[in-house]
Amino acid sequence: MSNKLKWISEELNHLHAQGLYNNIRTIESPQGAWIVVDGKRVLNFCSNNYLGLANDARLRDAAKRAIDQYGAGPAAVRSIAGTLALHRELEARLAKFKGVEATIVFQSGFTSNLGAISALVGKDDVIFSDELNHASIIDGGRLSGAKIVRYAHNDAGALDDAIKKEGDREGRPYTRALIISDGVFSMDGDIAPLPALVDIAEKHDVMLMIDDAHGEGVLGRGGRGIVDHFKMHGRVDIEIGTMSKAFGVVGGYVAGKNEIVEWLNQRGRPFLFSSALTAADTAACLASVDILESSTELVDKLWENARYFKSEMKKLGFDTGKSETPITPIMLGDEMLARKFSARLFEENVFAMPITYPTVAKGKARLRVMISAAHARADLDRGIEMFAKVGKELGVVR
Ligand code: PMP
Repeated sequence: MSNKLKWISEELNHLHAQGLYNNIRTIESPQGAWIVVDGKRVLNFCSNNYLGLANDARLRDAAKRAIDQYGAGPAAVRSIAGTLALHRELEARLAKFKGVEATIVFQSGFTSNLGAISALVGKDDVIFSDELNHASIIDGGRLSGAKIVRYAHNDAGALDDAIKKEGDREGRPYTRALIISDGVFSMDGDIAPLPALVDIAEKHDVMLMIDDAHGEGVLGRGGRGIVDHFKMHGRVDIEIGTMSKAFGVVGGYVAGKNEIVEWLNQRGRPFLFSSALTAADTAACLASVDILESSTELVDKLWENARYFKSEMKKLGFDTGKSETPITPIMLGDEMLARKFSARLFEENVFAMPITYPTVAKGKARLRVMISAAHARADLDRGIEMFAKVGKELGVVR
């Protein structure tokens, strides 16, 4: 019998033994504050549905109408026969929302990062990347072939030093350079020091790219994102966005100056070689932009909920790490403890998945609570009560 796949079962056993095996749950209901998971109705603390839009009637209606008008599938890549009037409309609306010259829509935030980074730098170039950047940034960097220099997390001084050091290096100097940072870090909920990054990028004349996946719909006026939050309009060359979180749908985009977007229309590989976002998704995204532009109510509710949850959890003695946003890690450290905590919460009808290596460093396991505008105060209170109960039971808090 062939032995060539034996290594996989060995690796999987290893994951189980180390508490690193990810038990993927199945959701059997629409997204919301309460969802049905593996047949059980549970309080949802895991989704990126910041504003509760994923199951909003206005998005559902827009998607249905778009299917009737344009059909189900895109049937082509954007650059051949897949670009619909709807895609161009969404790009224009997103540009206005973000306060940039132009945007280009991709299938996801992940492909936006892959497409943008690999089109902007290549093998003669260098990327300066925050050490905690999202996997799609890391993969985009690798795909580009550029030299990748990691700098200490959110440390502008370390970034400045790294750029100087690369510039001073003997031999072949780099042609182009790109600084990349998450805007809001997805596992800790802390915010990049954008004004300092902008200053450094301008001082060294290096391109600056910020992934605003967890900033839009959350930071800035009416959820316009990190650039708006810090009033840095026109000073960040490339912004990456996703429609899969606060916008409640799926899809991604790159925002910036006209020439960048034009270049990505020509050279963004997922745009050229992978089929377009569906009409239903695109129309639902447009409906989200309408909602965000019409009122700040959902963004305000999100923050009110996040502040309340975090302060109550801190009062109980939980460590919420460095979070400055609705992403609320409950730091536990040990992988096994995180799994056990999550499993006990699930028994109490609270769904909070453990986040362990390789998503975060070994020994930095946590439960990451994602607060949403969809949660009512009673939902948060119920969650806090159950965290307190299980936390005491497992000796995490007293
Ligand atoms: N960037 C960051 C910072 C993210 O957290 C994510 C999603 N986990 C992505 C990009 C990818 O977005 P999408 O789900 O739209 O592919």
